[in-house]
Amino acid sequence: MSKACLVRGSINIDEVYTLPHIVRPGETIASTGFERKTGGKGSNQAYAAARAGGRVVLDAQIGSDGLAVRDRIAAGGVDVSRVRVIEDEVTGRAIIQRSATGENSIVLYAGANFANPGAKPDLDGFTHLLLQNEIPLKDTLAYLYEAGARAMTSLYNPSPMPTRAVLRTFPWHCLTHLIVNEGELADIAIAFDAAPTAASVADTARAQMRALSAAPGFNPHIVIVTTIGPDGVVLLDPTGGDKRIMAWPAAPVAKVVDTTGAGDTFAGYFVSLLMEMGDDAPLDTVIPICLTACALTVETAGAMESIAARNDVDTRMA
Ligand code: ADP
Repeated sequence: MSKACLVRGSINIDEVYTLPHIVRPGETIASTGFERKTGGKGSNQAYAAARAGGRVVLDAQIGSDGLAVRDRIAAGGVDVSRVRVIEDEVTGRAIIQRSATGENSIVLYAGANFANPGAKPDLDGFTHLLLQNEIPLKDTLAYLYEAGARAMTSLYNPSPMPTRAVLRTFPWHCLTHLIVNEGELADIAIAFDAAPTAASVADTARAQMRALSAAPGFNPHIVIVTTIGPDGVVLLDPTGGDKRIMAWPAAPVAKVVDTTGAGDTFAGYFVSLLMEMGDDAPLDTVIPICLTACALTVETAGAMESIAARNDVDTRMA
């Protein structure tokens, strides 16, 4: 079967208002700027996977106000034939206030992302599944169970983080790859009483990945990939006898402009490269490509619109 990834996730419209200061209770102020952008972790990660060159289908829901957003995602190479329009719902929203001093304040509304929970997952024709957590938990779980039953490669970037109770009973046995940043790793590790700390962020991540991987109730076969912002990536590869932990520095960045979407770029590029090179591809080949894509993302303003195409990543690496 040729490789293809289903991304079951969210689509949002991000509405960004620039303001002198974040609005106080009871206050009305005029914004000095307004931008509307395509957002949602599902769409960002699907877009990144497509920009990396992989075949990717986004399984998501919008309201009838989201058609332009859907087209924008499709223009990046994502198959949007499974993006359903829910007529009596609005597309998920992130209302973002950005103050002159750089503070953010964000209101989320799930809208169509949370409509009609419980649809039966259809994973026929897919080799890889990529999940975040901006849809009903019931759906995340149903898709993951189905992927597990089919022994598919399944990747999970838990954001927003489920509760500790959910984390402890989560079907980790169905998952092959966990993609987290250092804060998300700590949240999961704490849920499993597996959260030692060390002198540096990277050493703490190493210790927590080791402890989590060995924790009762977790799945010791999961590849854990932890991105740590400017410090790059640490990864636990459970194959090959002793648990192997590897690390890569972040790719050089000319100037950090906007880190929004960096983690989504990593997740999308990573799944796409697994499809291209095989799940057992040498990580020393795969990870530097992902990190170079992330460097290009942080050099550019915006989320989805800052995700570079594979050609540009290859050129940067040449
Ligand atoms: P998330 O957005 O999920 O928190 P990270 O902040 O860890 O993800 O970013 C993902 C990757 O993007 C990092 O591993 C790194 O390669 C790159 N990156 C993010 N922030 C920076 C930065 N300030 N300088 C250089 N690289 C960065």
